[in-house]
Amino acid sequence: MRRPLIAGNWKMYKTAAQAKELMAQLVPLIADVNVEAVVCPPFTALETVKKLIAGTKLALGAQDVYWEDEGAFTGEVSAPMLASIGCTYCIVGHSERRQYFAETNETVNKKINALLQHNLTPIVCVGESLAQREQGITRDVCRQQLEQGLAGLNKEAAAKLVIAYEPVWAIGTGQTATADQAQEVIGYLRTILAEQFGQDTAELIRIQYGGSVKPGNVAELMEKPDIDGALVGGASLKAEDFAAIIQKSCHK
Ligand code: PEP
Repeated sequence: MRRPLIAGNWKMYKTAAQAKELMAQLVPLIADVNVEAVVCPPFTALETVKKLIAGTKLALGAQDVYWEDEGAFTGEVSAPMLASIGCTYCIVGHSERRQYFAETNETVNKKINALLQHNLTPIVCVGESLAQREQGITRDVCRQQLEQGLAGLNKEAAAKLVIAYEPVWAIGTGQTATADQAQEVIGYLRTILAEQFGQDTAELIRIQYGGSVKPGNVAELMEKPDIDGALVGGASLKAEDFAAIIQKSCHK
């Protein structure tokens, strides 16, 4: 039985002071909810948010990582550094990083390995662009991202992953994939995972949907058999919306 996971990707929003305000609003709203949820603020707000989630059910995640533990890599942050500050999750391969920061399936693979080595759970993003969907190559694109991104992992490592299917055309656009569209691709991702790691392992891996998830559409998405939660961008910056998304996911 897979436990759903709701993750909030704050992207490059919120100073530490603004993060404090957002958390002060969010924490009381989800006090009684029994759903696994994680917030992923910018690096500069991790420490602040860590203190504010103490005693709550929320976990802490980062939005990116570098694969070496330490060294002359100006501007980068490593997995042991994230672990030391209390992170237990980290987003990897987000389409914005693929688009603007030269993230590739190969770098995704290195980051996944680094995170797992330090007991952090990677949230691995895959998804097609609008042009790729229109060309009818959604499945091929997602297959390549998964096969190359997860290359060389053993079953035990794979079982720890969270995958996020995020069609690029749905991110920040207000244009959510329909629940049927999301289930169709996510079901396919699970068959690829079964080919790579065996059916038993594929059944353990949580696969989220991400792309304009809102309080009004999350319940329908979560009803689908292969959808195990959501990766939420814009709506995670509004305490009431993120709390409502978490609450509406607790029936799964
Ligand atoms: C995201 O950033 O991963 C995302 C899904 O953003 P949004 O919810 O704003 O579409």
